[in-house]
Amino acid sequence: KALRESEERLRTLASTDALTGLSNRRRFWQTADGEIQRARRYGTSLAIIMMDVDKFKRVNDTFGHDVGDQVLCELARIGLANIRSFDSFARVGGEEFAFILPESSLEAAGNTAERLRSAVEAQAIQVGPHQVFVTVSLGVATLGPDMVRVEELYKAADLALYRAKQDGRNSVRVYQGNGEGLG
Ligand code: GH3
Ligand code: MG
Ligand code: MG
Repeated sequence: KALRESEERLRTLASTDALTGLSNRRRFWQTADGEIQRARRYGTSLAIIMMDVDKFKRVNDTFGHDVGDQVLCELARIGLANIRSFDSFARVGGEEFAFILPESSLEAAGNTAERLRSAVEAQAIQVGPHQVFVTVSLGVATLGPDMVRVEELYKAADLALYRAKQDGRNSVRVYQGNGEGLG
């Protein structure tokens, strides 16, 4: 029994981000892969959202790394509060988060991304004596008929995110999925 419990604890550790308690990149990749297979089999839609904190280096430089860490934890809470129970939410990099939204159209996922953007913008994050305001940029994509691998879906959302950054940050951009169309 003790062995089974410690095996389970190891599995949880291996798939969890220690700072925020969210899924880590590894687990996100597994979940996304499973959802892609499911969406293709049943012909349902599937959306991904990438979210990156704007000018986060400045937060660290101004308030220190520990405050930055607490800001990331608060962003995790805001994210969880704004998704459905069957969506997946992960910390996939330092200040990068990703969502998988099963059975979600590009428009619906775009609305979710906009809700996340405005929730973060509106929130004064209190860390000890400091009040920290941050914004996020988000890129949205849906599974195209030609997409099989997680990398392809991820790349599409990442391109949209790149455009959101280019367009001045604190914004949402969607990937139109015809190879060239970045909305
Ligand atoms: P941009 O708007 O272009 O995204 O600007 P940025 O400053 O957020 O982007 P950049 O990639 O240059 O810097 C990301 C920063 O995030 C740098 C790094 O110090 C910080 N960072 C990454 N992981 C962590 C972490 O776990 N904790 C803290 N406190 N900071 C982190
Ligand atoms: Mg980044
Ligand atoms: Mg950033």
